[in-house]
Amino acid sequence: MTTNVRRLPPMARAYDQCVRCGKATQWGHSVCRECNPAGLPEPSPSQYHATVFTVVLLVMVVLALIGIALH
Ligand SMILES: [Zn+2]
Repeated sequence: MTTNVRRLPPMARAYDQCVRCGKATQWGHSVCRECNPAGLPEPSPSQYHATVFTVVLLVMVVLALIGIALH
């Protein structure tokens, strides 16, 4: 199957993309077989989103502290 993954809207795909190489993976898998041949536990998309959310929250706290210190 030679479908270009990037052309389709996200919800129209019946598969996910590998976070390392961008190949199509089974739905719910974030790493393809070539990038994870041993079948190690994969990072889930929700873990990635939680990491980004935590970083955004920490930046907001730091900016608030800087604002209080300089006021
Ligand atoms: Zn891959």
